[in-house]
Amino acid sequence: MTPPITSAETGHDHDHDHDHSHQKLPSDPALRVKSLESLLVEKGLVDAAALDAVVEAYEHRIGPRNGARVIARAWTDPAYRQRLLTDATAAIAALGFSGSQGEHMVAVENTSQVHNLVVCTLCSCYPFPVLGLPPVWYKSPAYRARAVIDPRGVLRELGLEIADEVEIRVWDSTAEIRYLVVPERPAGTEHLSEEELAARVTRDSMIGVARVA
Ligand code: FE
Repeated sequence: MTPPITSAETGHDHDHDHDHSHQKLPSDPALRVKSLESLLVEKGLVDAAALDAVVEAYEHRIGPRNGARVIARAWTDPAYRQRLLTDATAAIAALGFSGSQGEHMVAVENTSQVHNLVVCTLCSCYPFPVLGLPPVWYKSPAYRARAVIDPRGVLRELGLEIADEVEIRVWDSTAEIRYLVVPERPAGTEHLSEEELAARVTRDSMIGVARVA
């Protein structure tokens, strides 16, 4: 049996759930997944619709809804906000969100002077417990390369205009540290409850590619 290639051999230290032991499958991860899925569906071991439902849940409901609750709490509770900015891992765990890919969280706050943007230049490191699965564009080579070189241009293309006087900080996620952007609370939302605020917070605003409307 061939031993798995270790990160020392690949020079790749993003030690998430990559498994390098399956050299007979296609090298492109998307093709590998497709092959495995086809095989499992063909053998009747899984149902394609059930798989789609799971992915949908993690991409749009479970994942980002957790992060949105963290943001809404930070907006409404100054002590919690301070704790989040000081020790995000503990503050997030206090709301019940922790686990794989969320062990070393750092929260970065948008202000009128600073806009934060998160990327993983090497692969697709992403804070699963608060944001779920990364969107396809987050994993694309174009975003990973250009977010660092030309963040303002990338944000503009994604529909977010950042004024020239606002500093853009780009945070490169790694296996060690995952970032959560605390977006600016929109004006005129003072009357909203924490729950209503959470409903407004989008996944993209917590990656830093959108504002909260
Ligand atoms: Fe990565």
